[in-house]
This record gives sequence, C-alpha cells and structure tokens, in this order.
Amino acid sequence: MGTIQAIRGTRDILPSEIGYWQQVEAIASQILNRALYQEIRTPIFEETALFKRGIGEATDVVGKEMYTFEDRGDRSLTLRPEGTAGLVRSFIEHNLFAAGGVQRLWYKGPMFRYERPQAGRQRQFHQIGVEILGSADPRADGEAIALATDILKALGLKNLTLDLNSVGNGEDRQNYREALINYLTPYKAELDPDSQERLTRNPLRILDSKDKRTKEITLNAPSILDYLGEASRRHFEVVQQLLTDLEIPYQLNPRLVRGLDYYTHTAFEIQSEDLGAQATVCGGGRYDGLTSQLGGPETPAVGWAIGMERLILLLQQLQPAPQVTPDFYLISKGQKAEVQSLILAQKLRQAGFIVELDLSGSAFGKQFKRADRSKAIACLVLGEAEAETETIKLKWMTSKEESTLTQGELFSQLGELREQLNRHKLS
Ligand code: ATP
Ligand code: MG
Repeated sequence: MGTIQAIRGTRDILPSEIGYWQQVEAIASQILNRALYQEIRTPIFEETALFKRGIGEATDVVGKEMYTFEDRGDRSLTLRPEGTAGLVRSFIEHNLFAAGGVQRLWYKGPMFRYERPQAGRQRQFHQIGVEILGSADPRADGEAIALATDILKALGLKNLTLDLNSVGNGEDRQNYREALINYLTPYKAELDPDSQERLTRNPLRILDSKDKRTKEITLNAPSILDYLGEASRRHFEVVQQLLTDLEIPYQLNPRLVRGLDYYTHTAFEIQSEDLGAQATVCGGGRYDGLTSQLGGPETPAVGWAIGMERLILLLQQLQPAPQVTPDFYLISKGQKAEVQSLILAQKLRQAGFIVELDLSGSAFGKQFKRADRSKAIACLVLGEAEAETETIKLKWMTSKEESTLTQGELFSQLGELREQLNRHKLS
C-alpha cells in the first residue's frame, strides 16, 4: 500500500523552518501591538456568497480559484481565499462599528486558492494582514503602508519596491472603463481568452492579466490617474505627500489594479527583486465600499496582506532559521540519578531556564556528544555518586570549566547561575 502524502499545493511547515514563522509572527505582532491593532480570528470557511459578493464574481479568485463545496446540510461553503471578506463579515455581525471611531484589526492564518503550485504560490498559503476600518483619512492609508514597510524592514529585508496607484471611486472607474474599452477593442483578437471575455464585463481586470501579449498591449493603455475626479485626486496626492514625509520611497504604477474588485482609491504592492516570478510580498489598498456592499454601514477602510511563504523565501536567503538552544543540557546515568534529573529539569524550567533532558540512558560519552550538538551553554551531570550525595556537576561547554555543587546550592544561587550563563553566552 502506498503512503499518503500532503495534497499538491500544500506544505508541511517542519520544525527546522518553524523558527522563521515564529520570528515573522513575533515581529509583526510586536509592531502592530505598538500601534494598538487588535488581533481577530475568523473561521476558515464561510458561506460562498460572502466571497462572491465581497470579492466580485468576475475576479480570478472567485471565478477560478475557490475551494467551494457542499456540506452535509447542502450549504455551499468556501475555504477562505483571503482574510478581508470574513473580517468585514464579522465586523458587521458583531456591530464592531457601534464602538464608533476607528477599528484597527489584524489577522494571520491559512488561505486557500486553487492555483498552479510553484515557488511562492501554493494552494494553502498563509497571510498576515491588517485592516483599518472607519477612517477615510489619507493618514490611515499612510499608516497602513508604513506598518507594512516597518515589518519588512525589522525583518532585515532589502531590495523592496513599493508600487502605488489610485483606482479612484466608482464614478472615476466608470469614466476610465469607457476609455479603456475604447483603447482595447481594436486589440480584442490578440488578448488572452480571459481578457477577451472581460473586455465588456470587467475591463480593469485586464490590466492585472499575467499573459505576455496582453501585458504588452496594456502598456500603452490610458492611465486611470488621468480619470480621477477632484476628490480622488486630492486623496491620492495627500497619500503620496505622506509617504514622502515618512521617507518611504514609492513608484507610481497606473496599471496596478490588484486582483480583487473591492478596492477604491489607494492600491499598492510591495515587490522584491529576489523572488523571481512571484515577486509580490504584500498587497493592499483602500476598500471604502466593501462594508456597505456586505450589508453593513458605510465604512471607509484600508488594509493589506503579506504572503508569509514569499516573505520566508526571502528570509531564507538572508539567514539560517532561528532556533532555540538550551541553557542547560541534563545528563544522567543510573536509576536514582535519572529520576533526580527529571525533577531538576522541571525545577530549572520553572525557574525560567531552557533545559534539555537526555532521556537515552546511554553512556556518558554519547550523552556528552549530544550535549555538544545541542549547542547548550552548560551541562549538568548526575551520576550515581552525585545522586547519592545530592550533588551535581556543572560543566561550561566553551571554557570546559567544571565544578561540583549541591543540588540545594544550585537553587539557592539561581541569580548567580543566570549571570554566569549570560557571561558564557556572550563569550
Ligand atoms: P498574485 O498576483 O501573486 O496572484 P494576488 O494579487 O492574487 O497575488 P493578494 O490577493 O493581494 O494576491 O494576496 C496578498 C499576498 O498574498 C500576495 O501579495 C502574495 O504575497 C500572497 N499570495 C497570494 N496568493 C498566494 C498563493 N497562491 N501562494 C502564496 N502566496 C500567495
Ligand atoms: Mg492571485
């Protein structure tokens, strides 16, 4: 019988790489906590209608990429392809708007899209995202973008570029739509089949096409920036000025429309030169219409999502996976010593030390070798003699200094032990 393997497009995140994930999550939550963002966790599956209504039926995500199924009660459910729709559903359902003012929320977790798996593109992937709900102020756009760049910077990433655009409001897009259709119609036969179909239904989506010839054609398409009304233009100008004042470099990209229909005004993407074809690490923008479209009150909003897998591909190029190494490696031999070693390990752990307990019962030499490999700062050794006298041998791994102390002393001198440990860590 063949063994069962993980589903195509999914990946196990193994202990050897989990350090990257924990590092990203720790840094993101620290930076977001400082700005008073609150974490929200919504279900992984939702009613299919939520995504159809929220993201838009003409998008790739809804049209081609969703994991949709019927449950045993004949309901159509979908594994969430992104985080915003579910978050906004929850915001409406729990009247979070009733608190008034601005809600700053963040989330992390798996998302699901039926795409062709390749480097940086999976069918189950993970995002960290933020949403600011209830503010139309361009400073909210500025804050959102600044937080994304701060997180990427804190992780040590370089060679990133920020692409910026405005897709205006509904009226601006209506005007632009016409101009775009007029420009594209003569090229209709040369467009990829999806884009041909979208020409009248949703021509903006064509700017997001990944097809080579379609991309060439759209290169000279009219720019949406020339179709922004006065208010949209003003908003966009302020956002740009804020980014300049925040010293965040950006480039205008009038073809940046993003893959989801709910965006209004600001749209942005952060790309890396070091990722190959799947270059976008972070995508986001303003979506003033989504909350009302889903049946809630008018709520201007802005947010983004970072793709964790792509971020971690970049971190892997920079550094090995962060790993926890023990302060103490506990070695024991003989029945009494082995029991004491567990008790001592627990007491040291309760006191805040990181302790690895060797459970092998093998010869001291073998246990020492493992202690070396564990990169512990010190070994604590319990043989039969130590067990009888309730003493313990302390051996510092780098200096090879050794001393024997009573087990009582070990715990009465914890402060000193901690200091010694720190000294050896530094040396
Ligand atoms: P792309 O153009 O690469 O398909 P997208 O516009 O569909 O991206 P968004 O919906 O904006 O992506 O999602 C935000 C981020 O999530 C992306 O910039 C990317 O980093 C990540 N992401 C999206 N889809 C995938 C996927 N299938 N596998 C891995 N990461 C993904
Ligand atoms: Mg996509």
